[in-house]
Parts: sequence; structure tokens; C-alpha cells
Amino acid sequence: MNKNQNTGGRRSAQQNLKLKNKRGQTLIVKAGTDYYELLGVSRSADTKELKKAYRSLARKYHPDVNKEPGAEDKFKEISNAYEVLSDDQKKAIYDQYGEAGLKGGMGGGYGGAGMGDFTNPFDLFESFFGGGGGMGGMGGMGGRSSAQSRNRPTQGDDERFDLEIDFLEAVFGCEKELDVMRLEDCDTCSGSGVKAGTRPSTCGTCGGQGQVIATVRTPLGNFQQVTTCQACGGNGQTSTPCPKCGGDGRVRKSKRISLRVPAGVDSGSRLRVRSEGNAGRKGGPPGDLYVFIAVREDPDLKRFESINISTTVTIPYTKAILGTTVKVRTVDGTVDLKIPTGVQPGATLLMAKRGVPKLGNPNVRGDQYVKVKVTIPNKISNEEKALVEELDKNQK
Ligand code: ZN
Repeated sequence: MNKNQNTGGRRSAQQNLKLKNKRGQTLIVKAGTDYYELLGVSRSADTKELKKAYRSLARKYHPDVNKEPGAEDKFKEISNAYEVLSDDQKKAIYDQYGEAGLKGGMGGGYGGAGMGDFTNPFDLFESFFGGGGGMGGMGGMGGRSSAQSRNRPTQGDDERFDLEIDFLEAVFGCEKELDVMRLEDCDTCSGSGVKAGTRPSTCGTCGGQGQVIATVRTPLGNFQQVTTCQACGGNGQTSTPCPKCGGDGRVRKSKRISLRVPAGVDSGSRLRVRSEGNAGRKGGPPGDLYVFIAVREDPDLKRFESINISTTVTIPYTKAILGTTVKVRTVDGTVDLKIPTGVQPGATLLMAKRGVPKLGNPNVRGDQYVKVKVTIPNKISNEEKALVEELDKNQK
């Protein structure tokens, strides 16, 4: 298969740009897609079978070869399915909770932080077929060349920040100041990447055309195509890079960001701060900041079902028989709890609305469940023994 695709290069360049604009966004896949069915494999398929299935389907539906409507969507779905099933952790979540589990996101509760983000299907395809290096990767196959990234506006990458908060801060929410390291526009060159006072000159490699003709080997055969000039990145000019940022236009800096952590978050919750990720290149939009929450445990209070809390109280057997009132620690402070006469060891008492506010709907609160432990002495005085024997006479 040897195709002569002079227009292919140009079309692909547009496609690349479109892809870049999409970077960092979560791909939306149809709800309830069966990944196994999509790849045509059994639920017990091993790595080899998965690879084989993905390989043949990705080749069949890659939008560069398949021009039928819907082929590109199908290609993306196949890529997502393969990405999930080939990753043990994601596969486990998918097998248990289905697609919804992978999109848990904020407060999703499966601890699957970041699981909802799929790799760009074209990047996955590229890494799978190993097209990288040298000739700007897969060229017309939707790969990105480094030169293109260098010279076109691209969206900045998302940044991750790990935040550990106290138990009560998670329950009621809190305000936090984060010092986030991320890429920002270089102030020496205002993000242009060009050294101040220098002028661009015509690129010596392409003679100012911005394009060169090259033969690119791909899994689909050899393509002769016009590709973007690697030396100048397609703009036909070369310029002296800014000495501070090395031509990237961005430098790594720390920025203090105020974050309002909502009530009800838990370990594994992920908060998104829009546009506070890394700066984009050459005027491209910034990425987002994702704050991953970890909650320090409380010695007494344990959360369960995300909004409920469990604790234990211990009372002597005499109090279990007679009933009593005990002080119980709650997230609202110490509260009196009435223990009824004749409470059974291991019984659970409910303190309504003493739990955690529901994330996103703080008017709804969970409950606190108090488990009653009853102590029975293994040593008693003669006087106590006499009293218990007296009670014992009345049994039955
Ligand atoms: Zn600079």
C-alpha cells in the first residue's frame, strides 16, 4: 500500500490542532458502553487478546483510513475501551462499577482519583504502534511533532496538587491557601519565546515554505506526504530563543491560590480549579488545576457510606441493665446520648443528623451510629459477688 497524499498532510495538520484544543478534556463516551463487547473479546480475555483486538479495530476505524461517518467516534471508543481494560486498576473499577465508576470524579468515592481521564486516543494509538521519534512521530496519523507543539498555540497541561486536610475540615469544608508550582508565561519575552530585540530570519531547512516532502512509514503503509518543517515548526522562520525560558515562552513558578474546600469531601475527592493549571504555549489557553484530597483519620470517628459516622461507647454491665446517659464525641462537639434500660451488648444507637453534610448538598446530613460495648468484670469483690448471687436467685 503506497498512497500519494499531498493533501493528507494539510488535513492532518488541521486535525492535530483540533486535537490539541481538546487536550486535557475528558472524553465523553456513551453511557453504559460495554468495553468487552466493543473490542469483541470475552470478559476473561488476556493482555495478548486485548492487544490483538485493539490493534485490528484501531487500524480499521482510524479516521485517516476510514472516512465513513462515525468511524472517528468508533475509533475513540475503541481506544478508551482498550485503555481501561489493559490497565489492571481501571479494569477492576470498570468490572465492579461499570463506566460510571471510572467517571467517579469529585466525591465519587471509589478512590479512583483521575480515573475518568482518558488518554487522547491518537496518542494511545501512536504509543501502541510505536511511531514516535525521528520523523515527528506518525506524521499524518494524527501524531504531534515537537516542532508543531513549539510554534502553535497549545493548551497548557493540567496540574495536580495533593492536599491533606483534617477530619473536621473535610466534614464542614475549609478555606486553604495552596502554593502551586506550575508553568506561567515568561515575563522576559511575554510568552513569545523570542529573545527581545532580535528579528526572525527565514528558515534554512524549508526555505521559508514551512513544509517539506517526506516519506512516512506507518502501520497502514508508506505515505508520501507534505509534512511540517521540523526546523521552524511550519512558520518558515527561525528566531533566537529567549534566554530565560529557552524559547518555550513559559517558566515554572509558584503561585498562591485560595481554595474553598466544600463540606463533605473525602479522601479521593478531586476538586477542579478552572484555568489554574499550566499556562498554554504561544497564547494557548491554560490547563486546569486538580486538587486531590486526602483526609487525616480521626481516632474515634470513622466515616462510612460517605455521609455517616460510626463510634463506640463502652458502659459497665450494670448501666446496660439500668440504662444511663453518656457523653459521646460528635463532629458538633460532645453530646449527651441516652442509653435505654436493658440495652444489649453490640447494639447500635442512632444519633440523627450528627453525620457529615452531603457533598454538593450540605442541607442533607448523615447520622452518627453509636455501637454499645458492655464490660463485664472478670474480678469482683466479695460484696459485689454477694449482690450478684442475690440477683441470680431471682433468675428463671
Ligand atoms: Zn522567555
